[in-house]
Amino acid sequence: MGHYQVIANVINDQMEEKLTELTQSMWGKEIKDCSDAEVYNSVLQLTKEVTASVPEIKGDKKVYYISAEFLIGKLLSNNLINLGIYDKLAEVLAKNGKNIADIEEAEPEPSLGNGGLGRLAACFLDSIATLGLPGDGIGLNYHFGLFKQVFKDRIQNAEKNDWIEDRSWLTKTDTTFEVAFGDKKVKSRLYDIDVIGYENGVNKLHLFDIESVDESIVKDGISFDKEDIEKNLTLFLYPDDSDEAGNLLRIYQQYFMVSNGAQLILKELKANQIDLREMYKHAVIQINDTHPTMVIPELIRILTEEKAMSMDDAIDVVSKTCAYTNHTILAEALEKWPLKYLEKVVPQLVPIIKELDKRVRAKYKDPKVQIIDKDERVHMAHIDIHYGISVNGVAALHTEILKNTELKCFYDIYPEKFNNKTNGITFRRWLMSCNKELASYITELIGNGWKKDAAKLEELLKYADDEAVLNKLDEIKRGKKAALIQHIKTNEGVEIDENSIFDIQIKRLHEYKRQQMNALYIIHKYLEIKSGIKPERPLTFIFGAKAAPAYVIAQDIIHLLLCLQEIVKNDPDVAPYMKVVMVENYNVSYAEKLIPACDISEQISLASKEASGTGNMKFMLNGAVTLGTMDGANVEIHDLVGKDNIYVFGKDSDTVIAHYEKADYVSKDYYKNSKVIKDAVDFIIGKQCMAVGHKENLERLYNELINKDWFMTLLDLEEYIEVKDKAFKEYEDRKTWEKKMLVNIAKAGFFSSDRTIAQYNEDIWHLS
Ligand SMILES: *Cc1c(COP(=O)(O)O)cnc(C)c1O
Repeated sequence: MGHYQVIANVINDQMEEKLTELTQSMWGKEIKDCSDAEVYNSVLQLTKEVTASVPEIKGDKKVYYISAEFLIGKLLSNNLINLGIYDKLAEVLAKNGKNIADIEEAEPEPSLGNGGLGRLAACFLDSIATLGLPGDGIGLNYHFGLFKQVFKDRIQNAEKNDWIEDRSWLTKTDTTFEVAFGDKKVKSRLYDIDVIGYENGVNKLHLFDIESVDESIVKDGISFDKEDIEKNLTLFLYPDDSDEAGNLLRIYQQYFMVSNGAQLILKELKANQIDLREMYKHAVIQINDTHPTMVIPELIRILTEEKAMSMDDAIDVVSKTCAYTNHTILAEALEKWPLKYLEKVVPQLVPIIKELDKRVRAKYKDPKVQIIDKDERVHMAHIDIHYGISVNGVAALHTEILKNTELKCFYDIYPEKFNNKTNGITFRRWLMSCNKELASYITELIGNGWKKDAAKLEELLKYADDEAVLNKLDEIKRGKKAALIQHIKTNEGVEIDENSIFDIQIKRLHEYKRQQMNALYIIHKYLEIKSGIKPERPLTFIFGAKAAPAYVIAQDIIHLLLCLQEIVKNDPDVAPYMKVVMVENYNVSYAEKLIPACDISEQISLASKEASGTGNMKFMLNGAVTLGTMDGANVEIHDLVGKDNIYVFGKDSDTVIAHYEKADYVSKDYYKNSKVIKDAVDFIIGKQCMAVGHKENLERLYNELINKDWFMTLLDLEEYIEVKDKAFKEYEDRKTWEKKMLVNIAKAGFFSSDRTIAQYNEDIWHLS
């Protein structure tokens, strides 16, 4: 029996007694007389105490995963599952008149991330601990994190997301550091969250905060004084950067994160008496996108200024310690800080960055690989690529595009640094926790092995023609749809037909993800129904998405979706056949309810633009069939499930890249030459939309689509309509569809983040 098993057994035996005692001492009453929130707090306390007895994962070398975001979601359910005490606790609560699902609802969702990149970091921490590898996360403890989305008058409003309660998973530590900026010094404090491996030991998520932070400076919505750094530094994730003060604040945040990270790493190395010239043998720093890039010059600065190392040695050892993950090829997302901003916020790093640039220029004449460009902007990714051991993309296609197009000039210099690590998701959260019914049915069919070796899910294939199994999968799906219907009714006040097809697109709102194309399909379908062509079965289109507050067109797309929701609802000719619902404040908790209930997973980004996607993997694992372009990890999904078990459409990435190179895509031509496209696009500024929506937003979106359409929505619209209609039609052949569900689940094993992390370790980290 492993350590964890001994602990799980002991605590399971004493669970009722312990929880009763704790509840009595915390609230002075019995479990059954407590509110759900009170019981949640007792369980939180109990879980933290149990976790304290689980051994910390130790080893000779450790990975530090630095990331501006950790979209960890609620932790209770996952921690209980990973500790092996979920079932027992559910039983004890039930015996005392409480439902564990209600207790889970009482937990506020941490607001420490934005989208896929942050969720990836969270899945990775789970897998690192589950594989028993020593590895900690390093990030910031944002008090309000990402904004909370509220719809008013069919417009997105942003409010602060006040998630930190008196009792929480955060543990205040005694670790404090000093961080010096150009114009001020601040004191930091470290808060830790335990990361519990599945049936394994414990690592940490280290979150730094500033002692002088002041929540009260936030006034109406999410506005605050961007220049009051001592008070605002850790209030928000990705503060509005549409002005200079916002840009400077982001640099203050990034430096605060890496300075603390560097100090923590060096402190741990010192505690282990490591010679810093051999630091790379004991530490590896994975830089998640470019936000933490300044850790490279910061470490070099500390080693040269405080540890008396020569510049050559410092650059050498740091370069052997750091590795970089690229998450996007969207040019606007690759950070380029004006040197003058860095001179203001972190003047101490500027000579180091100039030295790094000088060394590059001495070796390579190509201006495209230089760090500081002719406009005096610092290309953060270039620092990572020159001064690190590894550059990885996050899906096979994405890595190929990096090598052949976006980062080709770097690939020519350093072919050995480039490698692919296709993203993954933790099956603990995205199946065992969010879809217990499906997880236990899978276990009934093929045993427990898949939980630690996800490839074993393929054993399900032997049931591909077993009617009883297929029926059961369908029954589980219907159960999860019924649960989602209840949740949406409570939260959005919208009623959904349980016999309808659930077609779901949930992800950040971005033009490249093309929610606007889905909206145009909905308009097309609406017009079709009006003309008397009815779908065989009602259709439910569900959206969830937040748009960055400064991203105007994204706000307009949300507005259009909310207008369509209203128009369809109020039209008695159409309402029986279709429904549109945009859920408010899409987050991890919502995803956990939406994904198990989905029939068709919308992954319709413009080919070449979605680096990987991980939502696509979560849906597949839960038996949804993908409707998507050959983009990101969709390509790998297609190759795994085969063409009969996915619906693909649209121009491929080579074609799209060629359009950009030749600048020959003209959206207005598509608009003029197709009645279907024209009718759908015109509807945006037609009478019905204008009656429920705002002229300004709708006209701006309309003009964007016909005059620019940078992400080529109209290029793929007709084929999208055709293939989506085909999917809806084939849904009616229930046996064949259920088989598609089964194949998708069976082939999802490759997308376990355990596999991804094993590859990072094998190829980059080399932890013992
Ligand atoms: C998985 C996840 C994402 C990423 O979704 P994509 O479809 O890959 O963009 C974003 N937000 C939340 C809450 C998620 O759980």
